[in-house]
Amino acid sequence: MTENPFFEHWTTPLGVPPFDRIRPEHFPPAFDRGMKAEIAEIAAIAGATTAASFDDTIEALERSGRLLERVSRVFFNLNASNTNDALEAIARDYAPRLAQHRMRIALDPDLFARIADLHARRASLRLEPDQLRLVERYYLRFVRNGALLDLEQKERMEAISERLASLHTLFGQNVLHDERDWQLVLDEADLDGLPEFARSAAAQAAAERGISGRYAVTLARSAVEPFLTFSSRRDLRRAVWEARRARGARGGSSDNISLIREIVALRAEQARLLGYETFADYRLADTMAKTGEAVQQLLLQVWQPAKDKARRELAALEATAHAEGLNEPIEPWDWRYYAEKVRQAEYDLNEAEVKPYFVLDNLVQAAFDTAGRLFGLKFTERRDLPVYHADVRAWEVSDEAGGHVGLFLHDNFARPGKQSGAWSSRYRDQENLDEAVTPIVVNNNNFARRDVSDGEPTLLSFDEAKTLFHEFGHGLHTLLSRVRYRSQSGTAVRRDFVEFPSQMFEHWMSVPETLRRYARHYRTGEPLPEELLDRLLAARNFNQGFATVEYTASALIDLDLHRTKATEALDPARFEQDFLERMEVPKEIGLRHRLPHFQHLFAGGGYAAGYYSYLWAEVLDADGFAAFTEAGDAFDPDLAARLRAIYSAGDTRDPMELYCAFRGREPTITALLQQRGLAPTRPD
Ligand SMILES: [Zn+2]
Repeated sequence: MTENPFFEHWTTPLGVPPFDRIRPEHFPPAFDRGMKAEIAEIAAIAGATTAASFDDTIEALERSGRLLERVSRVFFNLNASNTNDALEAIARDYAPRLAQHRMRIALDPDLFARIADLHARRASLRLEPDQLRLVERYYLRFVRNGALLDLEQKERMEAISERLASLHTLFGQNVLHDERDWQLVLDEADLDGLPEFARSAAAQAAAERGISGRYAVTLARSAVEPFLTFSSRRDLRRAVWEARRARGARGGSSDNISLIREIVALRAEQARLLGYETFADYRLADTMAKTGEAVQQLLLQVWQPAKDKARRELAALEATAHAEGLNEPIEPWDWRYYAEKVRQAEYDLNEAEVKPYFVLDNLVQAAFDTAGRLFGLKFTERRDLPVYHADVRAWEVSDEAGGHVGLFLHDNFARPGKQSGAWSSRYRDQENLDEAVTPIVVNNNNFARRDVSDGEPTLLSFDEAKTLFHEFGHGLHTLLSRVRYRSQSGTAVRRDFVEFPSQMFEHWMSVPETLRRYARHYRTGEPLPEELLDRLLAARNFNQGFATVEYTASALIDLDLHRTKATEALDPARFEQDFLERMEVPKEIGLRHRLPHFQHLFAGGGYAAGYYSYLWAEVLDADGFAAFTEAGDAFDPDLAARLRAIYSAGDTRDPMELYCAFRGREPTITALLQQRGLAPTRPD
């Protein structure tokens, strides 16, 4: 039996996990030992007989659970980025056990007594501001987990958390299996309308699945979007659209409908135990928005203008479709296809013309250089580090003075065994309690990989380039963190504030300075022609009615679902149908995520009653970037320095205070409405 790497001190460069030595069988014993060690540490903290002090309680908690955190970080990152049957089985096995473990600590009465005592005396403890906030957050976290409940209620809370952890895991696995199971295999003759990049991506996807000489469309968003946009085969567009829409709702063993019902009922029950009327009330009490009313008000402020704009967009699509001989109504599988035609006609812009200028590697460099100009960071590739898949590239990050800042892992390509979508995560958080600990960040994307040997590098769409910058913004939030305590590090902020640093960073992808320098034709190296740049920027608001309706409808149904009181009788399919009718969601658009595959809500609890967060943060990022526009310089050094303070603060301060310190005032919604072309004063 080989040694278990989790039980050793890692001597790898920069402390990167020794991926080359970690095997699935190492996780169960490491989880077991990690839980046991943490329980012993907690018992020592909770069992102390002296009066509680900040040092022997809060700081001791910050120091506890290190082994479990180390194994959990590696496990859950690998399970998301590069899973297999063995890891999935461990996830099913350990998700409820880990939930039980966390609840055991969260509901420990002796531990809570010490935290509550400190909390009551916090004003007289002579704490620094970050320490004071840490005590308040610990107290609130324990109360929100049920520390004030009686024994019977606590047992119920524990049982529910455990069950929810299993249900979340199953939900995500079901979606992944439905995506893995399905592919549309095509011949050359079926590719009408598809540009070169989509054809070769489909050829590559087929080759990866062992189907040579043919083409495969998969359910990855990076495969579906171009197919729906360009394929002139209406029957095939429909097949792809319906398959993507059916994920998690195909009946049989991977069906998610019954899981949703149980998840929603259990969440509502937990909220009631904690004294809230609904899960949304409970969840939103600890956010920047604070109430469901505030969230609904924001969503409804954009809902009607978005539908109005979508109606005008639909009229243009119908005219084009009619002119092309379609005598039936526009269906959801037609929208992207005809929108692309309208876009070409109105802005003389087609995606296939733009894409050759968006080379993945150049845009990665653009993101790095933007972080350099704004925040003084430098990225140097390290080829000597172990990685968990050949796709992953590792970059050492340093500051102006050459000091080590952290490690950035980039995992950009779609492949079987990788969750769909894009996300940023961490293998290690920044902290500075006993010693300076630097972060290890990973950014995951699902771009369709190109094999460079056939001459064409991986090219991105404009939206994919924005996604790259978005996740990199989360990465910077982690890398620039300068806090003392691990639990306040980087992205450990309120859910509706965490998208601000990421969405803010997206703006620098589309500033003319970035596009002029980094958008270069992959073959000729020529920069994006000025007139094409003008058309590209002019078209930015195009189809925003569609995009806003699609997103806002999903945010509204999330809020509605989690504000439901009568959860026992919930029929998710019926609920979705009623919602679509009641809100008059345009049937040509529908929901961005249907409930049976709405992973934000059900593959974990993080974004439940929280999908609105992206729009909430967009109020901030639109208003925030307007400061740079008003200054007349997208790289204004004073503003950049003030912005950096937000990226560095983690959860050491209240988010609204942080924002106001940067902007000099509270945010307004005006810039958001303009950004999406929804402002009432703006005819279009
Ligand atoms: Zn994000």
